[in-house]
Amino acid sequence: MNIVKFEDLPISEEIKRAVIEMGFEEPSPIQAQSIPVILSGKDVIGQAQTGTGKTAAFSIPILEMVNQDDKSLQAVVLCPTRELAIQVSAEIRKIGKYMHGIKTLPVYGGQPIDRQIKSLKSGVQVIIGTPGRVIDHINRKTIKMDNVKMVILDEADEMLDMGFREDIEMILSKTPEERQTTFFSATMAKGILDLTRKYQNNPEHIKVVRQELTVPNIKQYYIETRSANKLEVLCRLVDVYNPKLSVVFTNTKRGADELVGDLQARGYFADALHGDLKQTQRDIVMDKFRSGTIDILVATDVAARGIDVDDVEAVFNYDLPQDEEYYVHRIGRTGRAGRNGMSFSFVFGKDMRKMRDIERYTKTKLNKHEIPSVADVEEKKVGAFFDEVKTVIEAGHLTKQLQWLESFCETSEADYGVVDIAAALLKLALGNEDKQEIIDEPSRENRNRRDGRDGRDSRDSRDRGPRGSDSTAEGMVRLFINVGRNQRVQAKDVLGAIAGEAGISGKLIGTIDIYDKYTFVEVPKQNAKEVLENMKDIKIKGNKINIEKANRRKK
Ligand code: ADP
Ligand code: MG
Repeated sequence: MNIVKFEDLPISEEIKRAVIEMGFEEPSPIQAQSIPVILSGKDVIGQAQTGTGKTAAFSIPILEMVNQDDKSLQAVVLCPTRELAIQVSAEIRKIGKYMHGIKTLPVYGGQPIDRQIKSLKSGVQVIIGTPGRVIDHINRKTIKMDNVKMVILDEADEMLDMGFREDIEMILSKTPEERQTTFFSATMAKGILDLTRKYQNNPEHIKVVRQELTVPNIKQYYIETRSANKLEVLCRLVDVYNPKLSVVFTNTKRGADELVGDLQARGYFADALHGDLKQTQRDIVMDKFRSGTIDILVATDVAARGIDVDDVEAVFNYDLPQDEEYYVHRIGRTGRAGRNGMSFSFVFGKDMRKMRDIERYTKTKLNKHEIPSVADVEEKKVGAFFDEVKTVIEAGHLTKQLQWLESFCETSEADYGVVDIAAALLKLALGNEDKQEIIDEPSRENRNRRDGRDGRDSRDSRDRGPRGSDSTAEGMVRLFINVGRNQRVQAKDVLGAIAGEAGISGKLIGTIDIYDKYTFVEVPKQNAKEVLENMKDIKIKGNKINIEKANRRKK
C-alpha cells in the first residue's frame, strides 16, 4: 500500500476539509494503513508509537461509518483516562466539524453523572469514555449497547496496565457480537493478544515499523552525570534552553515526588503526575501544566503516557527508563504536531549499556551533550534579562525612574556614572554568586567530588523573600535553614548540628540569626558545600530540615 495523501483515502470531502484545516498535510503511516482496513469493516490491531496520529486513525472511520439518521449509540471508544477521553473527543469533534447530525460525548468519572445522562438522552451516537463510567451508565441503562457497531480500545496496553481488563471485557460482552472491534496501542502487550483472541474476529495487525517511527524533529541527547548532580544539571538545562514546557521522567513515584520538592525548593514551578494521584488530582496537575501555571511536569511512565500537550519542548529522562519502549513513549511527549523537541537522558556508569540498547531499539544515535557550564547559564540568564530590559525601554513610561536616577546622580557625593549604576542594578537583579563547575565525567579522576547543592543560585527565579541577604561577612556564605524559633531552635542547636554533622569546628561558624520560621547561619565559603551535603538528611529539634544557600532571588 502506498497511499500518501488524504485525497487517496476513501473518505468524504467534509473530513478531508477538516483535517486539512487541522494542519494535517498527509496521513501518517498508521492512518494511511489502518483507515482503509477499518473502513472495509475488518477488525484491526493498530500498533504505532505515541504521537503518530492513532486518534485520527480510528476517528475518521468512526465518523465515516456512523449512520447520521440513526440516533442510537453506534460507536464506543474506551480510553484509559479522563484526560485522554477528553482529548480524543475533542479530536473527533474537530475532524467531524463539517459533518452534520453526528453527536459525540465524552463520559468519564469525576464529572456529574446527571449532566452526562441528560446529554445521553438527546441521542448520542459516539461515546468516548473511561471504562468505569461506561459501565456505570450501562448499569443505569443510560447507555444501551444493543446497536453498537464499533468498539475501539485506545491505548489498549495502558488500559490493561491500569487494571481495566475486567471492565473492558464486561463492556465488550454487552455489545453485539457482530460488532467491529479495533485496538490501538503503542505496544503489543501479551494481555492484548489475549483480548484479541477472545473478542476480535480475524483481526488484521497493522504495525508501523520502527524505522518509520523515528521522530526526526526530536533532538535526542544524553548527558553523563552522577546521581548527586542530576538536580543541578536538570536546572541548568532548563535555565539554558528555557523550554516552554518540560516533562521530566523518573522511574518511581517517590523519585517524582522528591524531585518536585527539590525543584520547588529552587523556585521552579513543578508538579508531579503519577499513579498514586486520584484522577481529580491528576486533572488539576494537567490543567496547571497545560495552562503554564507549572512548566515542569515530573512524571512516571504510566501516568504520563498518552498525554498530548503540544507545547512540551523538552523531555528529560532523569532516570533512564527500564524498558526501551518506554523511552520511545517518553520522548514522544515532545516534538508533537510537527514541532521541534529535545530530549535529554541522564546516564552514568552502567546506564551506558542500557542506553546502547535504546539506541539499537530506536535505531537512532543519542548525541552527547555537555553539562552546561556556569558561564552558559549566566550568559543565557543575562541575555534573557537584557531582552526584558529592552522590552521595558521600548514600552516607555520611564519618566519616574529617570527622575530618580537623575536625582540620585545629582545628590550622591561620589561621581557615579550611569553605567556604574546600571552595573550595580544588574548585580542586584541577577545576583553574583560564585558557582562551581560540575566535574562529572566518570572518565575524569574527580569521581568523589560531590557537588552537593551549590549552584542553585543560577536560577533567575521567583523572589524567595526572607532568604535573601546582603550582609554576609567576608569569606562566609550564608545558609538558610527552614526551622526557627517556632521549632524551639536555639543557636546551640544549629551550631551543634553543623559542627557535628559536617565536622567543622564550631569556631568557624559565623553569625546565626534565628527567626520564627527559619534560621540563617554563616559558614566559611570553603566549608559550605560540605555543610550542605552533610546536613541534607538530618533533623534539628526533631524536625527534618532543608538547608540551602541563602539568596536573593528576583524574577
Ligand atoms: P497517538 O494517539 O498515536 O499518540 P495522536 O493521535 O494523539 O497520537 O496525535 C499526535 C498529534 O499529531 C496530535 O496533535 C494530532 O493532532 C497530530 N496529528 C495526527 N495526525 C496527523 C497528521 N496526519 N498530520 C499532522 N499532524 C497529525
Ligand atoms: Mg493516542
